[in-house]
Amino acid sequence: MTLIIVDQHKHQKFDETYYHSNSNPGPIFPKLIGEHKTDICIIGGGLTGISSALNLAETGHSVTLIEGMRIGAGASGRNGGQIVQGYSSDIEAIIKTVGREKSHLLWSLAQEAIEEIDRRISLHEISCARQVGYLFAATKNSQFKLLKRISEKLKNTFNYEATSVIERDTLKNWVKTESYIGGLLDYGSGQFHSLKYLYGLAEAAANIGVQFFENSKAIQISGGDTITVTTACGSVKAKTLVVAGNAYLKGLDNTLQRKISRVTSTVGVTTPLSPKQINSVLPGGVPVADCNNILDYLRVTDDKRLLFGAGADYLGRETKNKKRLIRNRIMKLFPQLNDFDLEYVWNGFIAATRNQLPEITCSQQNIYIAQGFSGHGLALTGLAGILITEKINGISERFDIFASINHQDMPSYPYRNPLLITAMLINKLKDLYH
Ligand SMILES: Cc1cc2nc3c(=O)[nH]c(=O)nc-3n(C[C@H](O)[C@H](O)[C@H](O)COP(=O)(O)OP(=O)(O)OC[C@H]3O[C@@H](n4cnc5c(N)ncnc54)[C@H](O)[C@@H]3O)c2cc1C
Repeated sequence: MTLIIVDQHKHQKFDETYYHSNSNPGPIFPKLIGEHKTDICIIGGGLTGISSALNLAETGHSVTLIEGMRIGAGASGRNGGQIVQGYSSDIEAIIKTVGREKSHLLWSLAQEAIEEIDRRISLHEISCARQVGYLFAATKNSQFKLLKRISEKLKNTFNYEATSVIERDTLKNWVKTESYIGGLLDYGSGQFHSLKYLYGLAEAAANIGVQFFENSKAIQISGGDTITVTTACGSVKAKTLVVAGNAYLKGLDNTLQRKISRVTSTVGVTTPLSPKQINSVLPGGVPVADCNNILDYLRVTDDKRLLFGAGADYLGRETKNKKRLIRNRIMKLFPQLNDFDLEYVWNGFIAATRNQLPEITCSQQNIYIAQGFSGHGLALTGLAGILITEKINGISERFDIFASINHQDMPSYPYRNPLLITAMLINKLKDLYH
């Protein structure tokens, strides 16, 4: 693979993560200066934007991608690294929301999303610590019953055979805690280093002609048949626009983000642990997430650190004491792990929809938007890139499955904040008592 360094300019500072410290700097791109013309302009250099760019360029379009900070500075470079089957909403809820027939289509598309990651890794030879295996953990009986039902439904209705139920007595082979009472092991899900993956996709896209610009925040979108996207130092004229700013797209055009709300989650990464310490917490080597509404998600990285994510602020505020939050969650789950330091902690913003299915749609014929992956975007963003490309190339069927999902608006001001705070409290209570 060739490393493309177009311009060594100074980059806007952003809060870097373990992922940024643990990978090479990735390809570096110049700032947009002056007027540019292209078939397709993409706003946002996360996995949605870059996957779309790569797919679109492969099918012959000229593509310009503008990123406000550095590529991978948003959620795609600050997540839990867990590649999870399906959607944030469980399969029973999806059947209720979209009906039986559409739920089958959605399920097969979600599987394709994970296959796409593996296809891209192999095609572009991306080294990103990809591993399979995943554990959904139940903290109470009602959750364990749901996991068992889901496993049956996936086997019997969706022909998905990769899960097995783990009873309490064998759970400690995977995760050593008194907090979980059972789990569901899934060999269709897994983990990876999402930022290395993103850099690999960006290099592949740049190699086939995608023009990337960093430090080039879109400040205005205007036009009809031809769209003009303006930044502080330049502009891009395009026939089609793909908006891929997700939870980080703030203030550009509020009408595009009525269906999503921005939720803060916090991640911490320890210094490398000894084999004995790892064995005392996650001996099975697979990532774990509990089934709570405000969940803990954790895994051991390939350089043997515990990566632990927790918390959810529905108003999208910065967490005040990130280190304390993560340390307390780790100590609650693993009181036996007393000798560790948190080397990295950071916040990231998740875009969530009300039904927890992503919003992949098109407004005014030539403006596409993909957002609201609701904490499940590592695989679904790649799918969004495929479906948007199909639609732009005149193949509508699969794109339309998502576009036809009815997403409800998030509450608007002045009701928004009180309602979101209430929802957060209700979810906390449900996690404790239901
Ligand atoms: C803490 C955390 C943990 C997570 N854990 C997981 C997980 O374990 N598994 C999972 O599947 N998903 C997880 N997610 C969700 C997943 O990371 C996201 O769904 C996914 O990365 C979204 O990718 P994206 O490209 O749509 O958005 P992003 O990666 O956020 O990219 C959007 C980009 O757009 C840019 N941008 C915004 N506005 C503008 C503008 N005006 N002009 C130019 N550029 C702009 C931003 O700078 C940003 O780089 C997590 C998210 C967070 C925050």
